[in-house]
Amino acid sequence: MHNVVILGSGCAGNTAAIYTARAGLKPLVLEGHEPGGQLSITTDVENFPGFPEGIMGPELVQNMKKQAERFGAEYRWGTVVEADLSKRPFRISIDGEWQETRTLIVASGASARWLGLESEKKLVGHGVSSCATCDGAFYRGEKVIVVGGGDSAMEEANFLTRFASEVTLIHRNEHFRASKIMLDRAKANPKIKWLPNTVVQEIHDVEANTVNGVTLKNVVSGEVWRQEVSGFFVAIGHIPNTKPFVGQLDLDPDGYIISHGGARTNITGVFHAGDVQDRTYRQAITAAGAGCMAAIEVERFLEAEGH
Ligand code: NDP
Repeated sequence: MHNVVILGSGCAGNTAAIYTARAGLKPLVLEGHEPGGQLSITTDVENFPGFPEGIMGPELVQNMKKQAERFGAEYRWGTVVEADLSKRPFRISIDGEWQETRTLIVASGASARWLGLESEKKLVGHGVSSCATCDGAFYRGEKVIVVGGGDSAMEEANFLTRFASEVTLIHRNEHFRASKIMLDRAKANPKIKWLPNTVVQEIHDVEANTVNGVTLKNVVSGEVWRQEVSGFFVAIGHIPNTKPFVGQLDLDPDGYIISHGGARTNITGVFHAGDVQDRTYRQAITAAGAGCMAAIEVERFLEAEGH
């Protein structure tokens, strides 16, 4: 029987692990299918407080993990495939093996949706990014591409014009899902060039391990051409990792956990932390803060229950 199981080993999960471990609760942390979360697929992190020279994303999460382990957190490779939250203790199936826990912190994140190109996969963190706030500042004076037609794409394109000399917005059709206000704002920005009805066929250059161009295709005319760019931002949505909890936790239509105040979910003893609930801020530091909140809730809950 565990006191607390933490799902996810990104900033939220690791911070929850540091706090609950330090409180003597011996948390079990499940690393999930993307160990280290979104930070593990980025390079320099320049906006996490405490690192004036910046720090590499993978190193930052690795440090957090070491810190949690120092206080007795146990990390285990595995994902939750099924869960029974109908009564306490909660039961979770870790890749088929059922375990019991008094409390649960769901910090399983939201995975960026990608286009699915092999070159995209190989160049993530080397010119391909899913987060303009994180990586935009590396493209001062450079040309970049943003893919997507929703609010995220508009927001990212606008944000990137602070740094980039030119932002090309690529969307697979000519109907934009973005809200009128976000679309109008982006349309009014002279640094944004528009390429509707366009798809990305290839991102170059895997051999050089950096982005220096893309092959694009206009789906109406059939025209194919190559365009030089240094940064490639994918903003086609996120998928929250809440599948095992459908029908048990309150989720919004896109699958994000609906908060019931603080770090609480609709189920007493189950708490949320990080991007799995937060579709607005999605930052390492906000996820870390949310992990801390969830840990404090767990401590208080277990204490009140006499554990
Ligand atoms: P959306 O689901 O709204 O938009 C995704 C976009 O990506 C669509 O234009 C879609 O195209 C495109 N897309 C999806 N899959 C692919 C693919 N495989 N290849 C190419 N294009 C693809 O996601 P967002 O992240 O933009 O927004 C999610 C939610 O968050 C929305 O409710 C939004 O309003 C909200 N949000 C609000 C913000 C704000 O108000 N400041 C900022 C950011 C997000 P298609 O239309 O053809 O399917």
